[in-house]
Amino acid sequence: MSNITHNVKEILSEIPEYVHLVAVAKTRTAEEIEEAIRAGVKIIGENYVQEAEKVFPLVKEKAEWHFIGSMQKNKINKIIRIFDMIETINSFEMAEEVDKRCAKIGRIMPILIEVNSGREPQKSGVMPEDVKEVVTRISTLKNVRILGLMTMGPRTGDPEEARPYFKLTKEIFDEIKEAQIPNVSMKFLSMGMSNSYKVAIEEGANVVRIGTKIFGERIYKK
Ligand SMILES: *Cc1c(COP(=O)(O)O)cnc(C)c1O
Repeated sequence: MSNITHNVKEILSEIPEYVHLVAVAKTRTAEEIEEAIRAGVKIIGENYVQEAEKVFPLVKEKAEWHFIGSMQKNKINKIIRIFDMIETINSFEMAEEVDKRCAKIGRIMPILIEVNSGREPQKSGVMPEDVKEVVTRISTLKNVRILGLMTMGPRTGDPEEARPYFKLTKEIFDEIKEAQIPNVSMKFLSMGMSNSYKVAIEEGANVVRIGTKIFGERIYKK
């Protein structure tokens, strides 16, 4: 068994059945992605539109595609044609832009709202105290559909340090769920990466985004 196959099978055997595994494919080849899919991966996460365009034609029907990168307005038309879900909607304005373009091609885009749970100035995402209001505003748009929240949390070596940020995001998630905002389904809570997914699941994640632990260390070629 090669490493990718082994790693996917190991992760799938460890995580509860209700948790969705997103294999984060940045810098990976179509062959590597296909191997992960053969081993049982059902969702591929991509940060870069250009990369997704390269591998997508080869593997599109074999998996679902989640956009997990930073949103740029000039990439939206491509994003809404390639991806089945956008996990990184970080403002009402961005959702409105996606809504407009989706209306033109007659599709309703499933989205998650990205929460800046660490309140980090350099990170994208809605500040914790603003999430409910932003969700409520976005819920009035006809061509996007909020299905939950996503967070990265501050990058640390120790997954325990990420726990309070996952806890906070789960609290916001529950609060919005209880508010029963029309047109909003709090179904997915996407948090946790290679070093932190176990803690994230303990804190209520049902989507985890894992790259390195499936494919190995990333080597950036220039
Ligand atoms: C790269 C990335 C991941 C995966 O990180 P790993 O540490 O390689 O598992 C998860 N989520 C997002 C948004 C990413 O950009």
